Amino acid sequence: MATLKLAAVRGMNDLLPAASPVWEWFEARVLDWVRSYGYQLIRTPILEHTDLFVRGIGAVTDIVEREMYSFEDRSNQERLTLRPEFTAGTVRAAIEHSLTYDGPKRVWSMGPLFRHERPQRGRFRQFHQVNVEALGFAGPDIDAEHMVMLARLWKILGVTGARLEINCLGESDERMKHRVDLVKYFEQREAELDADSKRRLTSNPLRILDSKNPAMATLLNETPQITQYLGVASRRHFDGLQDLLAKAGVEFRVNPRLVRGLDYYNLTVFEWITDQLGSQGTLCGGGRYDPLTEQLGGKRTPAIGFAIGVERVIECLTQSGNIDATAHTDVYVLHQGGETASQAFLAAEQLRDAGLDVIFHAGDASLKSQMKKADASGAEFAVIIGEAELAAQSAAVKPLRARAAEQRIVPLANLADTLVSALSEIEE
Ligand code: ATP
Ligand code: MG
Repeated sequence: MATLKLAAVRGMNDLLPAASPVWEWFEARVLDWVRSYGYQLIRTPILEHTDLFVRGIGAVTDIVEREMYSFEDRSNQERLTLRPEFTAGTVRAAIEHSLTYDGPKRVWSMGPLFRHERPQRGRFRQFHQVNVEALGFAGPDIDAEHMVMLARLWKILGVTGARLEINCLGESDERMKHRVDLVKYFEQREAELDADSKRRLTSNPLRILDSKNPAMATLLNETPQITQYLGVASRRHFDGLQDLLAKAGVEFRVNPRLVRGLDYYNLTVFEWITDQLGSQGTLCGGGRYDPLTEQLGGKRTPAIGFAIGVERVIECLTQSGNIDATAHTDVYVLHQGGETASQAFLAAEQLRDAGLDVIFHAGDASLKSQMKKADASGAEFAVIIGEAELAAQSAAVKPLRARAAEQRIVPLANLADTLVSALSEIEE
């Protein structure tokens, strides 16, 4: 009988050791970057009540209509959903714990999201985002902060060619007027709409603007534009944002067709796009969602946030080849089995006590094959404890990366000090 071969769920990736250095490099830089702007970590559950996303994202969005992984909980038949995005859960937590009672908060998260989409380059069913939210801030200065912050991140990461597009969606009364004219326009040219857009014409016409169907390009280029419907306050907000961006030297383009996938946005929306990744070129999307907290049962709290698609940024980094993706460690410890193995095992622990990264050769093998492993590990030094070294309570220290001196014998008592200073010389 053939056994069934188990494989990962379609659209869900394993991060294998060979690819992990790029992720670690990216994550380490993200940690410093969010801290440099005063954002604090928030970690919400991966599972939430389905209703949170229905109310928080909008019933007639792609995500809620067809992309959520939802199921019934065993014990009490509640509908639960694997989070498809971070904002709804973050706002839920903020309301539940009165996070903004003593003033606005800057928070961020990183982790996996789940959407049942057609898997393709840059689009997966489990993917990761770095998500940043500023809760309780009303002015365009915080909108600008988010964009300036992203411009800085691309610089830190060495991501070149990412461009910023912004738009202003106004407030709901302004969107209503725009919507009336938009529907009129689409009705006059209904023959040019694809099936999806015809369906949206009654449910969510603004989203037709988000269509990626090239056959509708001309139709979409001539639509009434939301920016022509903005009142004084919205206009001032949008102008304030553009003024700060210009002063900070961050280039941008106003794209009146930019509407974003989610329903709860008002005023500012933005995306960072690259040509490097083919058709899934949006690295990051964000915008203001002032009505959301109230919609989820909290006190009205103006807010803005953005989400970076980590897999897409990682692909840019991998393409650039700037990141050293090889493994590194300080020391690889070799032995000849028996007593020398236990001595080597303890010596490795002492080196770690001294702060070094150490790989102990587990199991028996010839010194020659151990030396090959030591080389491949990326270690700077091999430490060999053979029979002769054991008898003399010493170890042989062999530099593996050519630039340092010859192999030498060091008393075990001095091993840690010797390696610490040898490694610090290499770093200089
Ligand atoms: P799209 O229109 O491409 O579906 P979206 O509006 O659904 O994008 P958001 O919900 O704003 O995207 O997510 C923010 C970012 O997360 C995207 O710009 C993208 O980089 C990334 N992202 C979204 N969905 C996926 C996915 N299925 N796989 C990988 N990355 C994704
Ligand atoms: Mg989507």
